[in-house]
Amino acid sequence: MKNKTAKPKIDIERCKGCLLCVSVCPGKALALSGELNERGLRYVILKDTDKCTGCGMCALVCPDCAIEIKS
Ligand code: SF4
Ligand code: SF4
Repeated sequence: MKNKTAKPKIDIERCKGCLLCVSVCPGKALALSGELNERGLRYVILKDTDKCTGCGMCALVCPDCAIEIKS
């Protein structure tokens, strides 16, 4: 599934940095930030927008519902 206009919106306060989304991303578009969220946890960011196909896999696997795919 490809939708170049859809991109993940990451709720950094929900993210616990488990890296599940990073591991499934086919484009290697996600990465762990060097910053901490308010819970003191490193969170994931969309590192390279151009590499994101909008497939939605990251949102599907996130156990904390921290990712929403938005057009
Ligand atoms: S939507 Fe797909 S390509 Fe884009 S960051 Fe998520 S898993 Fe990667
Ligand atoms: S799967 Fe969810 S909680 Fe885990 S690193 Fe990705 S966004 Fe954060």
